[in-house]
Amino acid sequence: MLDVALAAGMFAAGCAAETGADVTVFEKNKFPGKKLNITGKGRCNVTNNCSFDELMSNVPQNPRFMYSAFSNFTPQDMMAFFENEGIELKTERGGRVFPVSDKARDITDALFNFAKKKGVKFKFETVKELLCENGAVSGVETESGKFLCDAVIVATGGASYPLTGSTGDGYKFAKDAGHTVVSPKGSLVPLCVERETCKMAQGVTLKNVVLSAYNEKGKLLFSEIGEMLFTHFGMSGPLVLSASAHMRDFEKEKYYVCIDLKPGLTPEKLEDRILRDIEEKKNKDIHNLLRGLLPSGMIPIVLKKSGIDASVKGNSLTRELRKTLRDTLKCLRFDVDGKRPIEEAIITSGGVNVREINPKTMESKKMCGLYFAGEVLDVDAYTGGFNLQIAWSSACAAGKSAAGGE
Ligand SMILES: Cc1cc2nc3c(=O)[nH]c(=O)nc-3n(C[C@H](O)[C@H](O)[C@H](O)COP(=O)(O)OP(=O)(O)OC[C@H]3O[C@@H](n4cnc5c(N)ncnc54)[C@H](O)[C@@H]3O)c2cc1C
Repeated sequence: MLDVALAAGMFAAGCAAETGADVTVFEKNKFPGKKLNITGKGRCNVTNNCSFDELMSNVPQNPRFMYSAFSNFTPQDMMAFFENEGIELKTERGGRVFPVSDKARDITDALFNFAKKKGVKFKFETVKELLCENGAVSGVETESGKFLCDAVIVATGGASYPLTGSTGDGYKFAKDAGHTVVSPKGSLVPLCVERETCKMAQGVTLKNVVLSAYNEKGKLLFSEIGEMLFTHFGMSGPLVLSASAHMRDFEKEKYYVCIDLKPGLTPEKLEDRILRDIEEKKNKDIHNLLRGLLPSGMIPIVLKKSGIDASVKGNSLTRELRKTLRDTLKCLRFDVDGKRPIEEAIITSGGVNVREINPKTMESKKMCGLYFAGEVLDVDAYTGGFNLQIAWSSACAAGKSAAGGE
């Protein structure tokens, strides 16, 4: 019995070995968990302590496929697993679960030690080919030779952050075994937005703003308060990454975002505030006047979007322009041109077509003894620990089934 690669791979391997199988993990890096170690800004948001319904609703792509795996191995099961392995956990805002130590390395170590304890062997080599004979998997080939086995779990991850080792190799293995692969795209990814305009505020970070995303028909897709930043290509930061996961298909739809720069003030209160500032700084130009309301790097964009000349004096702002300014501060609108490349994405959406996989066992319907787990599958989720939960639940199903346990 064999097994290819990590987060999901290590857990699948441990689960399979626990069920009595002889398991080897093949990992192309020289150490395990290269991506896991950088998750959650190095803290690893390991899962989400939420209800089953919440879990399902945070998986926009193929949630039904995950129903069985999620039911059999829930976020609370994963939390119990880590606590059992000696890792204390804490639950933060929005149900996000982290190790108390705030160290992703502790999560990697716990998984590695669990696998080792169960007798899993590790080989730090790259798998080049999947070996198949007469409709069944027979092993894998690495740079050092062929390894024969009864089952292979492909847990090679997606195609994002390729420097961590996930370079999309699993898609090739799947295709070689007769699977179709839904074209991989980046999700949770920075956005290309009105380049020339955004460049004006490059480097500006906004905190406590509300970012809302809409499709071209004006349907609200996402709205949250938080942090974002402007870059030379558009926008990035936590709010923007989260919003991007709701922009599912740039080939078919267009999207725009609105930033409420003053979510704490109603439009009326904001207008009062602007009037008060004008009263106090009658002869100052508008740029000067806005300094009390905005980070100065944002002022040129706000003026451009409001159509107000930077040299206008506060007291010569017409009522109409004042209202436009107020509305712009409450809804600074930008058309989204697209997503940044998949290499910059936190996760990959798309992957091995789940219609060709048994959702209870994660076994291929095309090739006996071939299993898939984790991000290589065409399942992805929003931020909050849900993507790792997909990895854990699918890995548990694949590990136990591949070992013949369940
Ligand atoms: C910066 C960043 C932060 C993130 N933070 C979070 C978070 O806090 N919470 C969350 O839920 N999700 C987070 N994610 C997403 C999460 O890391 C992934 O969804 C998860 O790691 C997927 O697990 P996996 O095992 O399927 O793939 P991976 O973790 O990518 O593991 C795949 C492994 O397979 C190995 N491999 C690939 N091809 C081969 C081959 N041919 N031979 C041998 N080995 C191979 C790779 O080297 C790699 O180690 C984050 C992602 C990134 C990039």
